[in-house]
Amino acid sequence: MYQNMGCGIKEVSKKMALRKIVEQGEECLTKVCRPVEAFNRRLHDLLDDMAETLQNANGAGLAAPQVGVLRRACLVLDEKTEQYLELINPVIIQQSGEQTGLEGCLSVPGKWGIVTRPNHVRVRAQDRNGKWFEVEGEGLTARAFCHEIEHLDGHLYTEHIDHFLTEEELRDYLEAEEQEAE
Ligand SMILES: [Zn+2]
Repeated sequence: MYQNMGCGIKEVSKKMALRKIVEQGEECLTKVCRPVEAFNRRLHDLLDDMAETLQNANGAGLAAPQVGVLRRACLVLDEKTEQYLELINPVIIQQSGEQTGLEGCLSVPGKWGIVTRPNHVRVRAQDRNGKWFEVEGEGLTARAFCHEIEHLDGHLYTEHIDHFLTEEELRDYLEAEEQEAE
């Protein structure tokens, strides 16, 4: 998802590799991904590469189909811990509230839209070894859960917007947000 200031993110080892992020228009972004069934070395390599790719792109989330792998796996930056959460076969099991805000996607570079999402989301997923767990997110993390899990069903955030923000609209939005934060 969108950019963050990227502090405290997991260190990556030299063995990992950047993968090419595919862009909107490529077929793999429109497919329903298959569940991950083998929690093996190959999955771990994929997740490690995705983490490096995401960190390199300064993103807040990345789904396997965005690197051309049609499996149900994604990474989401947890705002609280500033770590990437690995979500394998994730399902949203609870959601509440509402937030409307800025959203972008590494597969739709340089573009932004305003999307309404639940403000609180609870996800059930497996870790890289197949163990099930549940995790909650609010605000940007909840937004990222929704955004990334949608990718696994072949959907992009662009389906929720009526237009991409113009440069002026983006500037106004960011200025308003900054004032709010003061
Ligand atoms: Zn995306």
